[in-house]
Amino acid sequence: MHVLQTLSHSAENCPIGKPENLETMKNWLENIDALAAKHGIKVSGVWTDRWGHTSWAIYEVPNMDAFTKFELEAENLKVVTFNHIETRRVTSAKETLAFFNQCQKSKQ
Ligand SMILES: [Zn+2]
Repeated sequence: MHVLQTLSHSAENCPIGKPENLETMKNWLENIDALAAKHGIKVSGVWTDRWGHTSWAIYEVPNMDAFTKFELEAENLKVVTFNHIETRRVTSAKETLAFFNQCQKSKQ
């Protein structure tokens, strides 16, 4: 399954102007792949809209228990202190199509 996280912060908390937040985000970006791998999670990608103060991370996760344990890693908890984080379970186009096909079969 895939999980999409949206991370956003205010201009006042932007890492560009706050050295402690900059260190937190640099450390997170440098270690996110290894941290995720510890929990059997693969980071599909992390993208940032720098002037929009928003980033998106997509993870391939074996289950939500693994993701919950990953979220509790110290590096992730530091990110939460100045970012609003929205977490959604999402599906790929292939998974969505399979789901739609399953829905059609259920109605028959
Ligand atoms: Zn920012």
